[in-house]
Amino acid sequence: MLLKPGEMIPVDGRVIAGQSTVNQASITGESVPVDKVVGDEVFAGSLNGNGVLTLRVETPPESSLIQRVIRLVEQAQTEKPPSQQFVERFERIYARVIVVVGILLATLPPFCLGWDWRTTIYRALIFLVVASPCALVASIMPVLLSGMDNGARHGILYKNGAQLEAIGRVKAIAFDKTGTLTTGDIKVVNVLPAAGYTTDEVLALAASLENFSEHPIGEAIVKAAKEKNLTLELATQVQVKAGQGIIGQVAGNKVVVGKAEFLPCPLPSQTSISVREGCTTVWAAQENQVLGSITLTDTIRPEAKDLVANLQRQGIEHIVMLTGDAQEVGARVAQELGIKEVYAELLPEDKLKVIRKLQEQYNQVAMVGDGINDAPALAIADVGIALGGTSTDVALETADLILMTNKLDKLPHAIQQGQRANRTIVQNIALALSFIGLLLVANFLGNLNLPGGVIGHEGSTLMVTLSGLRLLK
Ligand code: ADP
Ligand code: MG
Repeated sequence: MLLKPGEMIPVDGRVIAGQSTVNQASITGESVPVDKVVGDEVFAGSLNGNGVLTLRVETPPESSLIQRVIRLVEQAQTEKPPSQQFVERFERIYARVIVVVGILLATLPPFCLGWDWRTTIYRALIFLVVASPCALVASIMPVLLSGMDNGARHGILYKNGAQLEAIGRVKAIAFDKTGTLTTGDIKVVNVLPAAGYTTDEVLALAASLENFSEHPIGEAIVKAAKEKNLTLELATQVQVKAGQGIIGQVAGNKVVVGKAEFLPCPLPSQTSISVREGCTTVWAAQENQVLGSITLTDTIRPEAKDLVANLQRQGIEHIVMLTGDAQEVGARVAQELGIKEVYAELLPEDKLKVIRKLQEQYNQVAMVGDGINDAPALAIADVGIALGGTSTDVALETADLILMTNKLDKLPHAIQQGQRANRTIVQNIALALSFIGLLLVANFLGNLNLPGGVIGHEGSTLMVTLSGLRLLK
């Protein structure tokens, strides 16, 4: 089995060629990636890093996959959103207070308020019923579960309920460019060889290496080479440098494909190879010699056009674009989409830094991305969002929320649902607390009997639950 960079390892296996680091956190809980060389075992459900690995599968896949599913289910069951955790902590203290107050109410009034024993015990019983915090505890989960269900029907997959709350509070969103705001359906439009090489040589060498790439640019180069029926060599020792390019051995030579800064040698003067304006350009080099440039175009996602305006209408104050591509290419796409702020030529760790900076200013920040190079930013953002379908496995694994339709047009819906969920939770808690308060006062004044207390208490619990179910619609 050939494993590309950033891919999830689908079955247990043993490395028979290549070298990489593998994140085994989903198996071992250890988040530091482990080095894997020939002879090492790798496990299903772990994530490949930047190297290309060839594996031999030695066990039937069911045995390992099942383990992982069990683990995921267990994890989902133990994860509770912060608001629910808070309410449950509150409830634990509250319940004790109620028991103590109940005992006091059942014993003291005959002495200090002159009530008879029958009334005292009766009211203490009603107190225990109406003061119990069922409605309070039921204020949150029905809202979040309904919201997640609604999301699922619109192709929005939340990894847990907390993400629904978090996306409702988001004030700033960062978008990756390639593959996120653009379709990632990239095409090679031009190949310019340096003196002494032919177009086909450049394309074939680059494609031999990119054959192992998971990046849309790599796929485009391979497609272009195949369309011309070029013969590809088998590259070895392939390593991907996320956000920069790819490097490896082709026919005994060290070959590099990537952005200009990633080349081991300086570019030739602009006269021999020119850069086409507004298009992504990557360079190929062999043993410290520039072979030529490959120019690619990408199409902006049609649904991205109204996105910025829609998000601003929803109260998103700040929208930025983060890209590993050149400034001018990023600026052109941003201008077309109405995005005012562009951070270009970013490495994965730079994307993460921009998110941190946005978090200082806006508190709740979402990041939308698809690539290996977006994973750190997706992880640190309050809500990491990936597109199902085209995103790499690392991005899907890291993200908190996945747009399964592989389109951006559901993003405003997710934000709207989140905002609605937060509003409903606040309403529910207010409703629950006022019901409890009202019933307590009525009971103390002697205006409540036990059936009335039960109806009021169960009624309010039902009311908040039903109110939560509104999010299904
Ligand atoms: P974005 O952040 O917009 O998704 P990337 O960070 O994935 O873009 O890529 C940034 C730049 O790095 C690309 O414009 C390209 O120059 C270079 N690059 C990345 N991966 C590759 C690859 N596999 N082959 C060639 N160039 C690459
Ligand atoms: Mg990308």
